Amino acid sequence: MKEFELIKRFFTEQAIKRKDVLLGIGDDCAIVTPSERQNIAITTDTLVAGVHFPHQTSARAVGHKSIAVNLSDLAAMGAEPSWVSLAITMPEADLEWIEEFCAGVFDLCEFYNVQLIGGDTTQGPLSITVTAQGLTPVNKHITRSGAKAGDWIYVTGEIGDAALALKDIFNEVNVSPQYQKSIRKKLDYPRPRILVGQAIREYATSAIDLSDGLMSDLAHICSASKVGANIVLDDLPISDALRDTVGIDKAFDIALVGGDDYELLFTASEDNKVGMETALAHLSCGITRIGQLNGSGKITTTLDSKPVSINAKSFEHFSQNID
Ligand code: ADP
Ligand code: MG
Repeated sequence: MKEFELIKRFFTEQAIKRKDVLLGIGDDCAIVTPSERQNIAITTDTLVAGVHFPHQTSARAVGHKSIAVNLSDLAAMGAEPSWVSLAITMPEADLEWIEEFCAGVFDLCEFYNVQLIGGDTTQGPLSITVTAQGLTPVNKHITRSGAKAGDWIYVTGEIGDAALALKDIFNEVNVSPQYQKSIRKKLDYPRPRILVGQAIREYATSAIDLSDGLMSDLAHICSASKVGANIVLDDLPISDALRDTVGIDKAFDIALVGGDDYELLFTASEDNKVGMETALAHLSCGITRIGQLNGSGKITTTLDSKPVSINAKSFEHFSQNID
């Protein structure tokens, strides 16, 4: 099947037709018509097979994840997702694979009322680049740079399970069968915290989504906001799966530096603490206060109120040579 037939068969037909899309797939560009009361947040992320997901990942999971990681960036800014474009490079036109991939893409798009408005389809090693756009009320977005010493640090959901699932795939740990499914789901089907992002807009002084690992992503907030931080390890939201598989000490390491969680990390001032915790109490993912910002310029960790150091290192591209 050729490029244009592929586009027509798999990407042009979709359930979501937004009113603010004047022209979708089919011309040289898409045309959208945002309202003047809103700003547009724009983000791009690439997923390369063997780098961002193991080669054996299912097509549906690859489709889901390529949209989810982008919507997660929009969530971190407090934006409501609206449009995505999708550039896919694949080795061959495997129709079954593309159909499953599209199911993953469109499931998530339909859930969040997001329209696929364009893209590119090319042949080569499997790689997917998505650009996602979202809307925020004018100047109500959240940045990494607004945090202040004294602000409390929060995280959504539980952290470290995606990293545990990766270790399981590479046989570095032995996960008991009762946990296999849930941790694999956290790795393959992360849920972007869109509603949390919008709910914290009124309260948060800064936010970021956890893609590279808590320590590394918190460091981005600290450097953009010129603050330090202390994380209270006793308070980290760690799953039974992670604790039971590797023990509590190793669980701390994995929760702090394992990537791929796509939870939100955010900060709020003492004045907003109660208001925010109350406003977010109904969320199904839960939020946990895990520490506090300070003026030290460093990130430290305590356990049982005593300083402790951590061992492992977060993921960084180009930090090691790959073939
Ligand atoms: P051009 O050559 O002008 O870049 P293409 O032939 O690549 O256009 O694409 C034709 C139309 O199909 C465009 O509207 C483009 O945005 C859309 N398109 C191509 N690939 C995809 C895809 N993977 N997902 C969504 N839309 C796509
Ligand atoms: Mg093109």
